[in-house]
Amino acid sequence: MENFRLDPWGHIYIEEYEKLFKYFGLSPTKDLLKRIESIGGKSRLYSRGIVFAHRDLDKFLDVIERGGKAALVTGFMPSGPFHFGHKMVADQIIYFQKMGARAFIAMADAEAYAVRRIPRKKILENAKIYVANLIALGVRPERATFYMQTNYEPAYYRLMQMASSKVTISELKAIYGDVEPGKIIAVFTQVADILHPMLDEFGRYEAVVVPVGPDQDPHIRLTRDIAERLRSDVPGLSKPASTYHKLMRGLDGGEKMSSSRPESYISLNEPIETAISKLMNAYTGGRATAEEQRRLGGIPEKCMVYELYLYHLADDDMLREIYEKCKGGKILCGEDKKIAAKLLREFLEEHQRKFNEIYKVVEDYISLPRY
Ligand code: SF4
Repeated sequence: MENFRLDPWGHIYIEEYEKLFKYFGLSPTKDLLKRIESIGGKSRLYSRGIVFAHRDLDKFLDVIERGGKAALVTGFMPSGPFHFGHKMVADQIIYFQKMGARAFIAMADAEAYAVRRIPRKKILENAKIYVANLIALGVRPERATFYMQTNYEPAYYRLMQMASSKVTISELKAIYGDVEPGKIIAVFTQVADILHPMLDEFGRYEAVVVPVGPDQDPHIRLTRDIAERLRSDVPGLSKPASTYHKLMRGLDGGEKMSSSRPESYISLNEPIETAISKLMNAYTGGRATAEEQRRLGGIPEKCMVYELYLYHLADDDMLREIYEKCKGGKILCGEDKKIAAKLLREFLEEHQRKFNEIYKVVEDYISLPRY
């Protein structure tokens, strides 16, 4: 367990996902696959192990199956461009909405300001771009509440205040290491994000699920403890369920897509030619020479182009075909990148057309603060 602390504000790459099962008591989603798909239909998120672990998802599914009120909570820090890593979260929102859940979607503007030091004007502009992207991807606004962390309902802030009295500073230090005032407020803001749909004021949802990357697990564990501690004062609270997705690596072969390295991500809003050029320069699992690749085959497990197929671009038949051709040395990276580029172009053209329409009316869906 030593040296294995997840840092929600760090940039670690979780190399050994299996450790999470052991150290943090997560369960594999593959054991629930049939049940998940019988409710929500087939999804690459689960069948391909992109969402690979959970806590209490079975209890969440119980509520869905008996027609109870279920909600999904997620948040986006509007600190940089909306990229394919964010799209993976959007896919999960869409899937849970299909199952019947309502989505509560926070624009984590408080956190972007306190932790990332992004200017407010930029944050507000990004929030509109994020909401328009989510709707353009298929998030149904009539089954969603989009909100800014600094511009919401009084009961949300009451919950944040009450939660802060249930934790000691040493507990926070044990989970997060050094904590500054802005970070502490961001922690309790996230606690309120996760728990507030269970309050009467927001519809009293009986089950809440939070899809996160494993680096966000400290927030989840703390929030579950706080829900327990607050239960006698706040009726209706229960421990939230959570699901864990793998983090997309950077296109440049870096550990994670990062807004500070434009070559590491493809934004859904960037000029299509720029996006294609990033794809053509992406890190692959190809061999040093064409002869070697024909002889030994490529290594799709290491390849970022393959990761784009796996997470976003290819259906099951195509994915299998690419994998086999790559492994068998039947395709070279240059040729394969052209196939991926065609799919990427088609996707972005369609997405950007929808985005431009929705962006014109995006303030109908989110209420922005004055500053
Ligand atoms: S052939 Fe395709 S999947 Fe295989 S390493 Fe090259 S780009 Fe990646």
